[in-house]
Amino acid sequence: MTHLDAEHFDQNARAALQDATLRQALRRATDLFAERRARAIGAVEDWEALREQARAIKAHTLARLDHYLTQFADQAERAGVKVHWAKDAAAACRIVAQIAADHDCHRLVKAKSMATEEIGLNAALARADKEPIETDLGEWIIQLAGETPSHIIVPAIHKTRQAIGALFVDQLGIPPTTEPAVLADHARQRLRAHFAQADLGISGVNFGVAETGTILILENEGNARMTTTLPRVHIAVMGIEKVIPRFADLEVFLRLLPRSGTGQHLTTYQSLLTGPSPQDGPRELHVVLLDNGRSRIVADEAMRSTLACIRCGACLNACPVYQQIGGHAYGSVYPGPIGAILSPQLDGHAGATTLPFASSLCGACKDVCPVKIDIPSLLLELRHRAVLSPPPHQRRRPFLERLGFRLWAFCHRGPRRQALLMFLTRLLLRVPGVRRLGPAGAWTATRELPAPPRLPFRRRPEARR
Ligand code: SF4
Repeated sequence: MTHLDAEHFDQNARAALQDATLRQALRRATDLFAERRARAIGAVEDWEALREQARAIKAHTLARLDHYLTQFADQAERAGVKVHWAKDAAAACRIVAQIAADHDCHRLVKAKSMATEEIGLNAALARADKEPIETDLGEWIIQLAGETPSHIIVPAIHKTRQAIGALFVDQLGIPPTTEPAVLADHARQRLRAHFAQADLGISGVNFGVAETGTILILENEGNARMTTTLPRVHIAVMGIEKVIPRFADLEVFLRLLPRSGTGQHLTTYQSLLTGPSPQDGPRELHVVLLDNGRSRIVADEAMRSTLACIRCGACLNACPVYQQIGGHAYGSVYPGPIGAILSPQLDGHAGATTLPFASSLCGACKDVCPVKIDIPSLLLELRHRAVLSPPPHQRRRPFLERLGFRLWAFCHRGPRRQALLMFLTRLLLRVPGVRRLGPAGAWTATRELPAPPRLPFRRRPEARR
């Protein structure tokens, strides 16, 4: 299930709920990550203080984002980086394609990056006949399958090893196997050949340090390091919210991010790049600073904290909605709780009237978020806005809904009317089968509606006396 539309979240979710294999794969993976996370953070005594520190750093940076971005760009240029500013997705894709053309690059490799997913970079480069090969194992599997990622750190979380084995047999012609080590070995052999020939490497950025102009890329497979060192040109696409003020701030985020995401104490590889490295790495390093709606979010104080996200994925693993339906049902590059608040605010992304409602508001996401983003409050704010200015086709509410609310308002205009309403409701609910009718049927199909008490609540003290 891929390439779904955020506007049809309800239908997508219903279809996902019918897919038992998907739910089993999700349950297993999200439970495992939650367990590992709990173990990893249990060993950190000052976990809550760390979260608070990270929240404060992000809030401070976002409040002075223009200052820190300028400092980052100046310092990066001083170190030899070519910095580009991209207003939106189209501009970012144009810049990357132009750099590839200027340097006559035809063999492109790419490390995992949500920013490049957001701008649809692969499709844009494919139109110029330069589609990059994904080098993260999960992303490569997804690329082979012609799908989109369904998790921000585990792109193929929805795939079982049986499905991956079948895909490799079909696409690579290998003998049938479901052994993860054998499958990984086949992937490694294929990807090595691509690394050896690549002339342009594309990556994302986890953090950009304003003080030094350094970019940090975190990963576990070593593919990002090869992507950013073997080709002669490296382009890093960085959302403007990824900047942090000082090098020392990295310590806070490096303790939080891996523990929250995969339950690791540290990711296996941390690549800190300050300028190009012509002797043993790329001759040119380009950083594309991507806006795509982020300036608007920063200017909106009520929603600004959305940009504090460090893309750890913990809120997805903790979310009871995501655990049941996975990422594709959201129809958005960023799924789960973070997707429900971020995607509707980005340029050119749909789902403003559906995604903020894709939550039970249980607060599990807020509890696990390492930068303490109050996701439920942001969801409520977006819901409020969606109701205040619905899209044209939803401006007029259905007749029955309007009638229902009018009757409701009429009945609550005085105690007598309210008492009458309650009396009639109690009578109605005693009629056999009525609880299964109409919209009530959808509710009671999976829930028990208790029988109404004989006496209304406000008459009970009197009756007791
Ligand atoms: S919102 Fe918080 S928990 Fe979710 S991905 Fe971002 S940082 Fe992680």
